[in-house]
Amino acid sequence: MATITPKRHAVVDTSHCVACGACAEVCPRGAITVWKGSYSVVDDGLCIGCGLCAKECPASVIRLEARP
Ligand code: SF4
Ligand code: SF4
Repeated sequence: MATITPKRHAVVDTSHCVACGACAEVCPRGAITVWKGSYSVVDDGLCIGCGLCAKECPASVIRLEARP
């Protein structure tokens, strides 16, 4: 069976993340964890590149990038 690989994935600029958790709340895949209250981390294996997290981020620190 073929595996579907999303063309994009979310990338967080962790140095400017304010750890508000808004991205994690909207992610339909549960792919985001706010790490030790300091910044968010995306699980690449779960991210489908939908972009909801980037729309919600108040600090605009999430980009959707093409997967390598
Ligand atoms: S792009 Fe979509 S699936 Fe990926 S981390 Fe953001 S909200 Fe979750
Ligand atoms: S929404 Fe933006 S600022 Fe808030 S935890 Fe997610 S990446 Fe960080």
